[in-house]
Amino acid sequence: MNKKIAVIKGDGIGPEIVTEAEKVLDKVGEKFGHKFEYTDVLMGGCAIDATGVPLPQETIDTCLASDSVLLGAVGGPKWDTLPGNLRPEAGLLGIRGALKLFANIRPAKLIPALASACPLKEEITKNGLDLVIVRELIGGAYFGKRDTHVDENGVKHASDSMAYADYEVERICRVAFEMARKRRSKVHSVDKANVLDSSRLWREVAHKVAAEYPDVEFSDILVDNTAMQLVRNPAQFDVMVTENLFGDILSDEASMITGSLGMIPSASLGEGSLGLYEPIHGSAPDIAGQNKANPIATILSVAMMLRYSFDMAAEADAIEKAVDDVLNEGYRTGDIMSEGMKCVSCTEMGDLIAAKI
Ligand code: NAD
Repeated sequence: MNKKIAVIKGDGIGPEIVTEAEKVLDKVGEKFGHKFEYTDVLMGGCAIDATGVPLPQETIDTCLASDSVLLGAVGGPKWDTLPGNLRPEAGLLGIRGALKLFANIRPAKLIPALASACPLKEEITKNGLDLVIVRELIGGAYFGKRDTHVDENGVKHASDSMAYADYEVERICRVAFEMARKRRSKVHSVDKANVLDSSRLWREVAHKVAAEYPDVEFSDILVDNTAMQLVRNPAQFDVMVTENLFGDILSDEASMITGSLGMIPSASLGEGSLGLYEPIHGSAPDIAGQNKANPIATILSVAMMLRYSFDMAAEADAIEKAVDDVLNEGYRTGDIMSEGMKCVSCTEMGDLIAAKI
């Protein structure tokens, strides 16, 4: 199969980790008889430097004309003082909206070889941790009406509105239930229905969709309780579905429990097969250009791309197994290094994983 991939390397460690992911993907192509064609496009700080805006129209057009999009990371101190709409992060929100990517899928799984990096006590994680957060990505407070103004008494006000339409809740809930059917058939819908109107709509629609999936165990849970349960008994969760802001916070909490930011991939999906795949971490300016970054989150993002956009499950399994094998042999980048292990660079980690495919 031939697949066209738009590649946004971005800033900081972005180019280093994406290069390793392409190396692994090329090896998959060689072994399984596929051809992956990459087109580099600009977004984030590098786009601001080259074109004056964080998300050039040409980038959107190339992404829309591709089968999928691979993203490293964007941002860095150089661009931190620019106004909000011109910062690299505006590119992230813009590309999600432009590609209509409404579902963000973030797995959080405790990898046995890295169990010692988990900050929770062993008695809490002894039953494992393997969950997926399905976060609504283009609605809620991040995309609602916002206003900052000074009133006639000189008092400054600011507001962001958390708004949802029923169809937005319905389509994200369907993604969660379909995913649960391929996993352990359990969905928690996370809201704040005791306080927020938008959550009461969320709950009403989630129940309607749940009725269509009688084979999937379903429960509602309040967001504050979810934050507690994640550190009290994370094994109870399989698929969690929630709105944009809650999902942003809970997915960072869940990823921390797994022990390393450098290990976690993500996928952002819309109605069709086009998706955007990226590691959950940022551009790590503190280690950029030093060949120290952990490329595994980006390599696992490519595995998600194969699974969700290209329907290549065996190829995705091969990448995930290669990562497990390399970790089981004791190879570590600096961020996940522990006593007795072998510390390798970003490029060496990419070579080791590619060699296992
Ligand atoms: P960060 O994730 O970039 O870094 C946090 C810490 O984790 C740093 O110490 C970094 O060295 C380390 N780290 C992160 N990824 C690593 C990897 N793959 N290997 C080894 N170590 C790794 O978060 P930050 O420092 O808060 O943000 C830096 C920049 O990234 C900011 O400009 C921020 O806006 C941006 N950012 C971008 C994205 C994105 O592109 N999706 C996400 C988050 C932050």
